[in-house]
Amino acid sequence: MEYICLNCGQVNSTLECTHCGHTSSEKVYEYVMEQAHRAIRYGYFYRREAEKAKEHDGVSIHYSLTTPANGLEWIATLVISGVSYDIIKYLVKKLYSYIKSKINPNNKDEEKVIEIFEKEEELQLFVKYTKEFHAGLKDVDSKIIDYIQEEINADYMGKQTGDFLSKEHRVPNAQDLLKIMKDRKNSDIDIHYREELQLFLDLKRQLSNRQTKS
Ligand SMILES: [Zn+2]
Repeated sequence: MEYICLNCGQVNSTLECTHCGHTSSEKVYEYVMEQAHRAIRYGYFYRREAEKAKEHDGVSIHYSLTTPANGLEWIATLVISGVSYDIIKYLVKKLYSYIKSKINPNNKDEEKVIEIFEKEEELQLFVKYTKEFHAGLKDVDSKIIDYIQEEINADYMGKQTGDFLSKEHRVPNAQDLLKIMKDRKNSDIDIHYREELQLFLDLKRQLSNRQTKS
């Protein structure tokens, strides 16, 4: 497995950076990765889709998005970790030459990933949207938010239904679906998860405090 240093962007084989010495705990790294996944899927790709749908008079152009290539997750983790845009821009070039051979340009989803690496205006948008999603989509058009929330709900229901099927060996009925929706209210799937963000920032602060002391 490869890890990106949340401090300097170097790709390492362990969580300890061979370049700057920064070490992330597994908990922090997993958390940032999960947030990065969400930001890429909902904050960037679905928001871009929502914008296109809006341009075409609300005609929905849904398509399924596969998990994007590693490189994009890494950029998103750096954005979420608060690395500055200039450093990200520099690292994107380095990362791209590193992951280029692993990307399949004939795959439609990966084509979109390449665009972010190759076009600076798309990278700027990716960084902006990742940040805005992570901050809870404040000041974003409510129609766009509804669209993204719909996708989050659909993903949630899809996953829950799948889990139900493999556990109960039957298709959920209306009552089961109602229960799933009710439980959802208590889950952390909502876009607005500023508490989590605070938790992450606290963890990060604790870590860097520990490093300056040692
Ligand atoms: Zn580092």
